[in-house]
Amino acid sequence: MLELLLPPPVDPLWDLTEAYGADARPERLNLVLGVYRDDTGTTPVMAAVREAELRLAERSASKEYRGLSGNTAFNRAMLAMVLGEGGGAADRAVAVQTVAGSGALRLLADLVCRTRPGATVWISDPAYVNHRPILEAAGLAVRTYRWVDAEGRSDTAGLLQDLAQAQRDDVVLLQGCCHNPTGVDPSARAWEELAGLAARNGWVPFVDLAYHGLGDGLETDLAATRLLADRVPEMLVAVSCSKNFGLYSDRTGCAIVLGASRASLRHVETALQNAARTLYSMPPEHGAAVVAAVLEDDGLRALWRAELDGMRARIEANRTGLAEQLAGLGRPAEAAVLARQKGMFSMLPLTAPQMLRLRSRYAVYGTTAGRINIAGLPADRIACVARGVAGVLGE
Ligand code: PMP
Repeated sequence: MLELLLPPPVDPLWDLTEAYGADARPERLNLVLGVYRDDTGTTPVMAAVREAELRLAERSASKEYRGLSGNTAFNRAMLAMVLGEGGGAADRAVAVQTVAGSGALRLLADLVCRTRPGATVWISDPAYVNHRPILEAAGLAVRTYRWVDAEGRSDTAGLLQDLAQAQRDDVVLLQGCCHNPTGVDPSARAWEELAGLAARNGWVPFVDLAYHGLGDGLETDLAATRLLADRVPEMLVAVSCSKNFGLYSDRTGCAIVLGASRASLRHVETALQNAARTLYSMPPEHGAAVVAAVLEDDGLRALWRAELDGMRARIEANRTGLAEQLAGLGRPAEAAVLARQKGMFSMLPLTAPQMLRLRSRYAVYGTTAGRINIAGLPADRIACVARGVAGVLGE
């Protein structure tokens, strides 16, 4: 049997991580994966998370199976966080815990396929590397819309023009904030126009939230999602707790579905549970229990918010620092491109060969498309990355 297996495509990001592992240069710097790292290079467990874990460890009596929708306190807390406290859109939504943001994307893609087999989902160009594979694996067709222009600015005109072609039966996957890989988001006005387009033309927005809290602050980062939720009858949201709770390996997230009314949601939860049963049965309890414990306790919640704000401020300081150094090295245009971006990633204005040279000459690893994990850049290495970028630009 196994001799029939054709060589499968290798995940480009994990492949680069392996190449990094084999690099013997002591100054090598891994900025490939989207993981927050402090100045010592560690991805810390947030203090609020650690405290919640201690409390849970003290009181947990059993690891018996949980319900098919996962941790219900977590699901409630996610609905309130994403859609806002006190009624509104949350009253016509259901949430099901998933295996992180990726699990939510896949489960929601399955839901789309159950209702509209082979439907078209629009994704940005460029997109998060796993969007197309997940959607296609679920049996959906993929089309793309423009996201940034040649100067690396949000291409509102291109975006609206492309999505004007989206049909009633289509679904449009939008990253709610801190776009991966570009770090470029539409303006508040462009989101308004997008929401109007969705409402007029009837396509279903499918929001992917993986970096809320790490761009302009939690509420601002969720504004586009909430705006869409208020304007359209139906919407899907994939939520990841990997980055903003630092729960990467605990695989914590949820799938949210909004309907025109509560009644319209009657089969949704069971459909999502059934989809999960055939994929992984049930999501892991630990991360969801931790998030619920943090969000349900005023003290822990405040501590988490302060830590999240601290992470965001540090990411911003890294970005500003890199842009300033680059400007100081005679590259003001490239510095301006970087300064406009937000979130964990920066898209360096470098070509693929330049990114390869950045790797070979300066030991700085980003993706070939130019993306670097600005959240993983130690403060004392900013100058050397700036020198590398200026160096390859000048060659
Ligand atoms: N969506 C986007 C845009 C992402 O960048 C990521 C992870 N990098 C995910 C979803 C999935 O994250 P996870 O499964 O680790 O929660």
